[in-house]
Amino acid sequence: MFSPLAGRSAIVTGGSRGIGKGIAIVFAAAGVRVLVVGRDEEAASQTVDEIVSAGGDASYLLADVGLPATAPLLVKTAIDRYGSVDVLCCNAGIFPSAPLRTMTASDIDEVLGVNLRGTMLAVHACLPVMERQGRGRIVLTSSITGPITGHAGWSHYGASKAAQLGFLRTAAIELAPLGVTINAILPGNIATEGLENLGEDYLKDIQRTIPLGRLGTPEDIGHAALFLASDEAGYITGQTLVVDGGQVLPEWPLPIADG
Ligand code: NAP
Repeated sequence: MFSPLAGRSAIVTGGSRGIGKGIAIVFAAAGVRVLVVGRDEEAASQTVDEIVSAGGDASYLLADVGLPATAPLLVKTAIDRYGSVDVLCCNAGIFPSAPLRTMTASDIDEVLGVNLRGTMLAVHACLPVMERQGRGRIVLTSSITGPITGHAGWSHYGASKAAQLGFLRTAAIELAPLGVTINAILPGNIATEGLENLGEDYLKDIQRTIPLGRLGTPEDIGHAALFLASDEAGYITGQTLVVDGGQVLPEWPLPIADG
């Protein structure tokens, strides 16, 4: 039996859609008060409305994690509204395709700016409050792409996701004396709007390579994040949790047969 997290607070960047929305919904269902962060007001307010109509507590903040001014604003807003920052989920991320041959410096800066620098700045901004609290949980949404696999067209994205783990391992050592843990989830292919933009053929093909026979859901990632945010996960830090339906396991790269 896990200790209840009811009354704790969580910041979920990229909580307005996709995986972040799944994390926000799962956390709110566990009684956590959630600050949903994104740039699109319609999506953010819809997520908050869904949570509130299901009996949860959430509010949103419109902010771009690619901008350095955003990180302190996340913390200030969470403190003003909820009085603490118990959990930080650094989930906001972008994955535009750019083959290496045509990739520009600004393509690289854009992806690293949101996925890597946005993560590092948010963690950095939470430190003083987590240190005062004497506890904190940080969960990064990395990916199998970069840390484990490669994907043509996404070398900058893969670099950003692998770099999150380099950051994580040193951050874990520095945060441990403060009572703060930091871990990363490596999702496989999760059915989100972002993934749907890659096209129906991609989705069909990828589904056939997943041993558990389906794409993941945002809630699959939400449950893993909730575990890493629990009191019971307090002795786990600097680690990665692959949540991919077994996608990276097969040695033989043939698609798994239908049915
Ligand atoms: P998504 O459906 O495109 O959602 C992305 C979320 O991030 C949205 O809430 C978006 O909100 C927010 N976001 C993007 N850029 C932002 C910025 N600059 N500032 C603030 N918020 C921003 O993507 P997803 O598939 O859920 O992916 C979420 C995370 O999971 C990413 O880090 C991604 O790399 C990772 N991931 C996804 C998969 C997958 O299969 N889907 C697999 C592995 C890892 P706004 O548009 O409102 O700003």
